[in-house]
This record gives sequence, structure tokens and C-alpha cells, in this order.
Amino acid sequence: MSWLISSPLSSGPCSSGIPSYRGAAGLWTRLRPEMLSATPAQRARIARDPEWVASAELFRENPVPFFEVKREFVLGLARRRWLPTAAHHVVALLHRHGLLSHVLTQNIDGLHQESGVPSDLVTEVHGTTRSARCDGCGRRLALEEYAALAEAHVRDLGGADPGAPARSSDGGLPCPGCARTSVRPDTVLFGEEVNPAFREVFRRDLPAADLLVVVGTTLLVAPVATAPMEVSPECVRLVVNDRRVGENVGLVFDEPDCRRDIMVEDDIDAAFVRLAGMLGWLPDLEALSGQMSERGAECVAAAAAAERARLGRRRAAP
Ligand SMILES: [Zn+2]
Repeated sequence: MSWLISSPLSSGPCSSGIPSYRGAAGLWTRLRPEMLSATPAQRARIARDPEWVASAELFRENPVPFFEVKREFVLGLARRRWLPTAAHHVVALLHRHGLLSHVLTQNIDGLHQESGVPSDLVTEVHGTTRSARCDGCGRRLALEEYAALAEAHVRDLGGADPGAPARSSDGGLPCPGCARTSVRPDTVLFGEEVNPAFREVFRRDLPAADLLVVVGTTLLVAPVATAPMEVSPECVRLVVNDRRVGENVGLVFDEPDCRRDIMVEDDIDAAFVRLAGMLGWLPDLEALSGQMSERGAECVAAAAAAERARLGRRRAAP
């Protein structure tokens, strides 16, 4: 049996605690263009279209606003401020049990790998925040080096880091190898091609899967949105999300036409902890609580306590 997880867990309020981009509390809504080290024209455009901060066009003109917006994410990941959710750990348990064929994700936080899924089983369609590279000399920067550069050369928009410079260095991050300000993120900027490795997943893994689990995505952004169309007609398609999604790409959840699609409309951690319970994996998951987001660990503790109470009642029954 093989599972293939398509998991942009960050499309909603994320239980890992990483701030999301969209929505009322999202980064794009909170962004104040006047705080960014940008020209008046650039600020005006960001005010009209906040996502332009993360565009290839602005990055070529002036990469500083991008790094100012990303600083807290890069530093937060380097300082392990965010841990994998319960759902991430259940996916890693699927791998440990030999049931996971691949993870295709729009997330850029690397939390699947943090939870123990091997890197070669994770395809990050929009790249990763955990590394950067120099367009000048080709040097690769691991997370620690990237974070050290951001910490030293980029001002802290939130004003919470007393060690941050008062103003950002001009031109972006200077490469430790060639000293040019040619460092760019390994995330895919708006206007750039997504990671082409997704095509191999579509060609090799999707047609062979007998279960596709779609998690926490609206299924509106290509190419991940079209993944459910690439599996075989026998493949069961399970969608876990806090609201119903997928009918736009041909999933059918209702009688009389429902054949192989299942919609679990629930909190993602709660649904995955329930799945772990059905598989008898709650003790394994509880043992991982120390490496889990606070909310995930609470969810696991509550399920484990309920399970112990249930078993206790059964033993006490005549
Ligand atoms: Zn360089």
C-alpha cells in the first residue's frame, strides 16, 4: 500500500504556530509598506499588491524588502521556534511503517523533514526557507549561514530583536564567498517557475499510489491542485481540511455518485491524531510529544487520555 500526501499545511492558521500569509491575521494583511526599505514607488505598489514583496520583479530591483519580511521566519526556523505538528509526525510514522511513497508540498518550512520524513521523499513545489544560494558564485548557504546573514544585515520590522541593525544593508545580503550582494532565497518567488521536480512525482508516484491524502489545501493553486487528477481510477482520494474542498478538481463526496473520495472536514491535527488512534499508534505519537508543536502535543495528550479511560472502563466492566 502506498500513501502520497499533498500537504500545504500552511494554507490555514497553522498549528505549528508559523504565521500564515493569507487571511485576516496573515502577513500580507498586516504588512505595512511604509516600514520597508523601498522607494516611494515600490511602497505604493506593495500597498496595492502586498504579494509583490515576494515577487521576482521587485527582488531584481531591490531585494531588501523581501529579506525584511522574511527575517523572522528564517531566524525562527534556525532557532527552532516552530516544531512539526501532530499531523507532520503521523506522516513520519506512515513512513516508518513503510506506507508513505512521497510528500508533495507547497510549504516552505521544511517541517516534514524535521519530523523525520527523508528529504528524498519530500518535493517542495515552492522551494524552502531553510537555505539560500548566491547567484554570483553559486555558493550554497545552509539555514544557519542564511540566518546569520539575515540577522546581521536586515532590520527587524517587529522591533523585538534588540540585536538587529537599525537599518538594513543596501542591496541585500552579501555572499560570504564572493562578497557580492547576490544572495537569493531557495524559495520560489512570484513570477518564477515552481520546482520542476514536481513533474517526476506526477509521472512516477501519483499513478502508482493507491491512496492520495490531500491535507490542508484549498486545491486552487497549480500544480498541486491537479494532483488528484493524476492518480489511477482505483486510487482512494482522502481530503482532510477544515472545510470542504476539491469538487473543483473532480472529487465527488456525495451519494449517489461518490465512489472513492472521502472528505474529512475537521481540524488537521485532530483528524490525524484520530487516524493514529485507529492505527494503534497513539503511544508512538505520545513519545514524540517533546518534538511537537504545543497545540499538536495537547491534541495527542487528550486523545491518549481518552484512550486510556476507554480501556480502563473496558477492564472495569463485568
Ligand atoms: Zn557569492
